[in-house]
Amino acid sequence: MGTIKIHDKNFKKSISEEEILKRVEAIAREIEKDCKYQNPLFLPVLNGSFMFTSDLMKEITMNCELQFVKVKSYTGMHSTEKVQTLIGADMSVSGRTVIIIEDIVDTGGTIKELVNQLQQFNPNDIKICSLLFKPSKYKGDLKVDYCGFEIPDDFVIGYGLDYDGLGRNLRQIYTVTE
Ligand code: 5GP
Repeated sequence: MGTIKIHDKNFKKSISEEEILKRVEAIAREIEKDCKYQNPLFLPVLNGSFMFTSDLMKEITMNCELQFVKVKSYTGMHSTEKVQTLIGADMSVSGRTVIIIEDIVDTGGTIKELVNQLQQFNPNDIKICSLLFKPSKYKGDLKVDYCGFEIPDDFVIGYGLDYDGLGRNLRQIYTVTE
């Protein structure tokens, strides 16, 4: 299916399932090269990273552990103040090589907050792995250690990513056309 409509928007296929799986396997090899014998702790961020995480884990052959986390956003006491809290990470992070798995890094605000909050659990090292990365939007200074695809500043869905709740189950990545 080359084009689809979700809610009010049209999307066209931009990254095929075959291309995704090829990159996922390559990322797994890179991670294993860097982290072998470290028993890294993967921290996939829900909800968007679930499909990427599943395929990535199937390619990882070294010992590793996995704990899904979630970033809960809510408005603080002042309406303009957005507070993000990390849920799911715990003391098992202490002394470990931790690999955050994200679906997409856009401005970098989410990973910055995640890394800040993870520091309190004293990890040995924090690495960032994201399927998609929008370099033209990125305002952060953290390195994205493992990246599947650099993409333009267009809204994408599929392979875990949603548009207003829909599209997460698509096997490919689709880009909005208007
Ligand atoms: P950041 O904090 O890096 O600006 O944004 C990260 C979050 O914004 C992602 O985890 C994702 O939820 C959302 N996001 C950013 N760009 C896109 C996009 O193109 N499509 C979808 N579905 N979500 C996006």
